[in-house]
Amino acid sequence: MTRVFSGIKPTGHLTLGNYLGAMRRWASVDQHRADALFCVVDLHALTVDHDPARVRRLSRQAATLLLAAGVDPRLCTVFVQSQVDEHARLSYLLECVATDGEMRRMVQYKEKAARERDRGGSVRLSLLTYPVLMAADILAYRTDEVPVGDDQTQHVELTRDLAVRFNQRYGHTFTVPRATHPEVAARVMNLQEPSSKMGKSDDAAVAGPGIVYLLDEPDVVRKKIMRAVTDSGQDVLYDREERPGIANLLEILAACTGADPEALSGTYSSYGALKKETADAVVEVLRPVRDRHQELCADPSYVEEVLRDGAAKARAMARPTVDAAYRAIGL
Ligand code: ADP
Repeated sequence: MTRVFSGIKPTGHLTLGNYLGAMRRWASVDQHRADALFCVVDLHALTVDHDPARVRRLSRQAATLLLAAGVDPRLCTVFVQSQVDEHARLSYLLECVATDGEMRRMVQYKEKAARERDRGGSVRLSLLTYPVLMAADILAYRTDEVPVGDDQTQHVELTRDLAVRFNQRYGHTFTVPRATHPEVAARVMNLQEPSSKMGKSDDAAVAGPGIVYLLDEPDVVRKKIMRAVTDSGQDVLYDREERPGIANLLEILAACTGADPEALSGTYSSYGALKKETADAVVEVLRPVRDRHQELCADPSYVEEVLRDGAAKARAMARPTVDAAYRAIGL
């Protein structure tokens, strides 16, 4: 059976980008057709300035939202990364296979490091080695497929390179995984800055009004979408280069309604009409997630139990592979 692994970082409140780019597919497709693991990757949240209590709270919230989005622990394994030691154990071995040059070439590292420096802060070493830990997350489970948004393509490519290199040097140990992306909304853009992605981990200056959070009230969602930046044109055309704001709204609407963004573009006479329909569609898509999240919050012991069982299952799956890697590399 195909093995699927994917994760979500508890660095902020989950967004519509996380949902349309990744989580929704995990629930509707991946867990039904594959042996799937979904992980709240809390170690990754320590790569930038963090508040311990907030990380703990956001980890629990992310796990609860995964379940609220329809990820079903009877069909797949849901767990928190730091509860399974194998991730950190394997990460160190992969650091001995990766080079500092390839780490420094990672686009996300370059962007985030520049942001830290601009703020006058220092860059944590873990920000540089983050993709190695991500590779460990994936390779520990002999993963075949990694369903992610577009922004993670480079990291999955690096994971493939490390798996191939390790296997060549030390004997076949890892499955070489591949990334899969949704057909539509693989990169949802910030509504106020359609040149950057809608990311929960972005700094507050870009966040706020341009980001739809999964737990935003419906009227807040509507307001954010109605105020989305467009351009001074009139026609609703699907053109990601020339009209990124409108293309983003068309993609969001298409993803929410199962339509094709290009086909949708001909059906609206004004930007206002497109925005209104997009807002309605997003509110409808998020409604069951919010409702279920509220139900789950009333029963925190259930979420605890899911995560405890998930960690035990994940540990049992990862250990043989990580032990094999230790032997192969000479330990
Ligand atoms: P973030 O950038 O919000 O911190 P994560 O690194 O936790 O997100 O990513 C969790 C999943 O959500 C990944 O599969 C990632 O590719 C996806 N994702 C994040 N932001 C977006 C976006 N704006 N559009 C599409 N997918 C996204």
